[in-house]
Amino acid sequence: MSGIELPLSVDVADDALTLHWPDGATSLAAADLRSGCRCADCHAARLRGEAPAVGAAATTLVDAAAVGHYALQLRFGDGHDRGIFPWAVLRALGRAPALSASPDTPR
Ligand SMILES: [Zn+2]
Repeated sequence: MSGIELPLSVDVADDALTLHWPDGATSLAAADLRSGCRCADCHAARLRGEAPAVGAAATTLVDAAAVGHYALQLRFGDGHDRGIFPWAVLRALGRAPALSASPDTPR
């Protein structure tokens, strides 16, 4: 087995991506996802010390599509769609306190 956890479903909203994992849902802010975009352009910008994304459109999510079985491709309001986010990374981000603006309360 691969050991990769896959979400049961994914909700795309303007300002957040919500992942429904077998043990609960996590929401990731679109702005945080964009600032953590893993594509070569954004990575290069960060290395230069620049913010990779500026403006409301750049931090608005418009679509998300699965890439094979290992990742999610996000498309932002400014048309940027080169960021591929492996499920394992999204899973780890959901667990990081800094990115959990409103932690889910277990029912
Ligand atoms: Zn990018």
